[in-house]
Amino acid sequence: MNNQTAFDRFNSTVDAAAEILDDVEPALIERIKTPERVHQVSIPLTRDDGTQELLTGFRVQHNSARGPYKGGIRYHRDVCLDEVKALAGWMSIKTAVVDIPLGGGKGGITVDPRRLSKAELERLTRAYTERIWRVIGPEVDIPAPDVNTTSETMDWIADEYGRLSGAAAPAVVTGKSLFHGGSLGRDTATAQGGFDVLEAAFAAAGEKVSGKTVSIQGFGNAGANAAILFENAGARIVAASDSTAALIAPEGLDVAGLVALKTRGGSFAGVPGYEKKASDAPLVEPADILVPAALEGQITAVNAGAVKARWIVELANGPTTPEADVELERRRITVLPDILANAGGVVVSYFEWVQNMHSEKWLREEVEARLAVTMRRAYESVAALAARKHVSLRLAAYAIAIDRISAAMHAGRATLPGARREAGHRL
Ligand code: NAD
Repeated sequence: MNNQTAFDRFNSTVDAAAEILDDVEPALIERIKTPERVHQVSIPLTRDDGTQELLTGFRVQHNSARGPYKGGIRYHRDVCLDEVKALAGWMSIKTAVVDIPLGGGKGGITVDPRRLSKAELERLTRAYTERIWRVIGPEVDIPAPDVNTTSETMDWIADEYGRLSGAAAPAVVTGKSLFHGGSLGRDTATAQGGFDVLEAAFAAAGEKVSGKTVSIQGFGNAGANAAILFENAGARIVAASDSTAALIAPEGLDVAGLVALKTRGGSFAGVPGYEKKASDAPLVEPADILVPAALEGQITAVNAGAVKARWIVELANGPTTPEADVELERRRITVLPDILANAGGVVVSYFEWVQNMHSEKWLREEVEARLAVTMRRAYESVAALAARKHVSLRLAAYAIAIDRISAAMHAGRATLPGARREAGHRL
């Protein structure tokens, strides 16, 4: 078994993509791989029964060459520094692939949020904010939701940040509720962006979403919204899982019913009437399209050979290991990589930030139209480079991002004696 960590995988993909570029300096690649700042904090939590616990949290500020750090906050029992560093690195790459003026960061708390009450979650979030508020800010580092954090979590952070800094600044986080300055379309943006990218790829391949079968791992913000979008486009969801079980239904799942169940806090293990399998079963169920929308490291050397889908839309971050990538490529399965396919969330986060900074409110149609253009443009440049260099979409996307980040780093030191001036992008 390969015991590469998520951050090792990020680094090896950056190295592989750098080889596609003609003249990028090794020292710049080292800087692109290495986080600029790493914050580890201890977070005191008072439980509802008055007992005290001390938890660990992180904020990794990976790269700011192209703009303020940007990236979600995850609450999960497996959160560790290595994972947060990988997630932060992927954000730097992602914001560059879709060409928005932001860098990459990520945060997290090592905690199983299911064992906490809502009041405890709020106290935990406010205590974490107290620890990191001096290093975040609307023009410094802008967190957002990720696994097990929601618009309500972001509202708490914005409120606590305002209280501590003495100035209301809703643009300090994105993914807020509409009432507290969130953007229309942010809740569905990650799934919508992935769908936009798949449609662009399908258009190029002469395929249609209508009539296709879809299998989804993870049924949270990314996975459940993807299920709704695919169903609305005439596809059939034949398998879906949450962390408790997979539901299998070749004739199609009742998507609306399952979304309502998850909104009520239910879990798939308790749903009657469907064949049930383990949570990772959707990865290898027969379907045309596979949507990993849970956690990283799911499609591996062990199960890649058993994947039945011809198309994979990576809504999760880092769901496929490099060994699995090789096997999927050998089997001519098209992988729409995370750093492109799930970038819709950060694109609309950027739109939310722009609206907050300029006191604007955009219509849902405006948000969705701008998102579709951004995603299609990103797909087209990635697909063109992949075709030109005979590499995967993932390596092409990384290469474009590395090129843009290194150009920004050059521009940043253009005032130094002897610095090389970069005019635009080379790819
Ligand atoms: P979420 O907390 O809303 O949902 C996560 C879902 O995955 C839940 O249904 C959970 O039960 C399920 N899950 C957890 N472990 C599982 C397992 N082992 N097998 C099957 N299901 C499992 O989180 P989310 O925001 O939907 O994020 C999901 C993935 O998408 C993460 O990798 C995240 O980093 C990525 N992502 C999210 C966004 C966003 O805007 N929310 C943006 C980009 C990427």
